Amino acid sequence: MIGVARDRSQTNRQFPVTGSMPPPSLAISSKLPDVGTTIFTVMSQLAAEHGAINLSQGFPDFPAPEGLLDRVRHHLGAGHNQYAPMAGLPALREQIARKTLALYGRQVDADAEVTVTSGATSALFCAIEAVVQPGDEVLCLDPAYDSYDPAIRLAGGRAVHIPLREPAFSVDWDRVRSAITPRTRLLIINSPHNPTGAVLSPADMAALAELVRGTRLLLLGDEVYEHILFDGQRHESLLRYPELAERSLVVSSFGKTYHATGWKIGYCVAPAALTRELRRVHQFVQFCVVTPLQYALADFLESDPGHYLDLPAFYQAKRDQFCALLQGSRFRFTPAAGTYFQLLDYSAITDEPDVDYARRLTVESGVACIPVSVFCAEPMLTPRLRFCFAKDLTTLERAAEILRRI
Ligand code: PMP
Ligand code: GLN
Repeated sequence: MIGVARDRSQTNRQFPVTGSMPPPSLAISSKLPDVGTTIFTVMSQLAAEHGAINLSQGFPDFPAPEGLLDRVRHHLGAGHNQYAPMAGLPALREQIARKTLALYGRQVDADAEVTVTSGATSALFCAIEAVVQPGDEVLCLDPAYDSYDPAIRLAGGRAVHIPLREPAFSVDWDRVRSAITPRTRLLIINSPHNPTGAVLSPADMAALAELVRGTRLLLLGDEVYEHILFDGQRHESLLRYPELAERSLVVSSFGKTYHATGWKIGYCVAPAALTRELRRVHQFVQFCVVTPLQYALADFLESDPGHYLDLPAFYQAKRDQFCALLQGSRFRFTPAAGTYFQLLDYSAITDEPDVDYARRLTVESGVACIPVSVFCAEPMLTPRLRFCFAKDLTTLERAAEILRRI
């Protein structure tokens, strides 16, 4: 079978949503009956309960840039505390448009083509609700970030899961092509890729362009790690390629770029017709996004573009530190090409399923990570665990010391 509709029952049986049942007259039939609590919540809670070093959910343990925090304090004090414009603060949308031109060579209209959202999660959700009609098929490449599949199903669509090719987690474009049917409406692309750290190459973009030419396929680009690529690689944004950009909704997140995942501010860049539909949904999901933070981000994008330009080197140093610290352990790995996640193959240690081993590592050894199989419809050839290295050196050292002893 080329693509399969995801059966999450295996995963979610292990993470049931708890609570007492309502009386029969008040019972509702769930729209997502097989969906449990997300793995990020499950593993972070488990880490907290057991005092484990939390390398599971992806967030830095160091602060946002002081200059940015200063701007937040300023705008809070200056009274920028009422609703922002629905599509986003014009000054912030202008900065996003400028960044898009400077980095990807694409001129976008800040008024008609840029929308500020409550994190990338909301941008992805609104984009999917906006373009997927009941019965449409949406292609997802597994392992796939966990919010895509439920959003597709809530829109009445069917997620068709196509595995990436292990061990490099590259896209098998022929396989993608053969999964396309007259019902296929959307392909979701995530590069740099969470959880594998793989990145798309120029050859991938050429294959993608050939694949979609002459079709009705739209593209949803999840590019939240657009500034976190290593070893001199260039981010292959959909926005670089006019023939791809004209059919793309491209999503990013300031949470990743500014070490502030709790702010939940992201955005979507898309041609005007797609943006119009996106905003039709966005205005009723959240209407608008935290005003003082938008002011602060607009200031900081203008004054300190060096922050995101320095991110590759900043995170490459962390990746290299973490990988060096793991030398001599029984975990096997290829250093991540992008993102702040490192996959580890633990097959030399145990043949336990990754979900079980991730729990045991957290509870017994004191290091929490994410089992990658929960992002896959089909079992992986080699089970792997994902570790977040967006951490201070001392955190990485403490975690690696434990992992080396295993
Ligand atoms: N997509 C991917 C691939 C992610 O890793 C994340 C979160 N880390 C998101 C979307 C959601 O981003 P946000 O926290 O801005 O909602
Ligand atoms: N995207 C983050 C990760 O991959 C988690 C986001 C969340 O907790 N929902 O770890």
